[in-house]
Amino acid sequence: MRRKIVAGNWKMNCDLSEAEHLLAELKRENLSKEVSVIVAPPFTNLHHAFESLKESEIFVTAQNMHQATSGAYTGEVSASMLRSVGINIVILGHSERRAYFGETNALLAEKVDAAITANLTAIFCFGEELEDRKQGRHFDVVKTQLSEGLFHIDPSKWSHIVLAYEPVWAIGTGETATPEQAQEMHQFIRETIATAFSKTIANEVSILYGGSVKPANAAEIFGKPDVDGGLIGGASLNAKDFAAIVNAFGN
Ligand code: PEP
Repeated sequence: MRRKIVAGNWKMNCDLSEAEHLLAELKRENLSKEVSVIVAPPFTNLHHAFESLKESEIFVTAQNMHQATSGAYTGEVSASMLRSVGINIVILGHSERRAYFGETNALLAEKVDAAITANLTAIFCFGEELEDRKQGRHFDVVKTQLSEGLFHIDPSKWSHIVLAYEPVWAIGTGETATPEQAQEMHQFIRETIATAFSKTIANEVSILYGGSVKPANAAEIFGKPDVDGGLIGGASLNAKDFAAIVNAFGN
């Protein structure tokens, strides 16, 4: 049975006191036990978030990491550094990393390897841009992102992978893919993995949808058979909205 997951990507928001406040609010919410709930604060808050949430059922993920184990990479953070503060999940390949920090599929393949070697779970993000969809090449783009970023891994390592399909045109724009568009792409992703690896792997990997998910649209999107949850940006900064999205699932 694949897991239902809702992860909140705080991006570059919340200093320490704001993070303390948001985490305290989140802990007061009644969150569905059927869903694995994850929050992704900035690096500076990871240790605090881990300590604050360790008695709760909420997990903490990093938003990024470097592919090397250590060394002269000023400003970067390695997988083992994440582990040392209790973090065992990392988001890789978010569209903002791809667009603003030049992360390519080849680089992401290295990051995926580093995450797996360090025994982290990688939430691997990918998705087409608006122009790709307008030109009808969104399936090809997604297939390339998956095959170049992920398909080199050993079949036994798929348990380390969560997928997050995030059409770039829907991130932070208020524009959401329709539940039908999300389902169509998620089904395509699962079929692509089944062909490249196996039906078992394809059926067991959780595929999250991301892009302007809100309390008002979450239930309909999460109701689709190949959508196993969401990666939530803006709405994850409000504890009540984030809880409502989590509870749109499984209630
Ligand atoms: C995201 O940052 O991954 C995201 C989906 O953002 P938003 O929910 O704000 O569109």
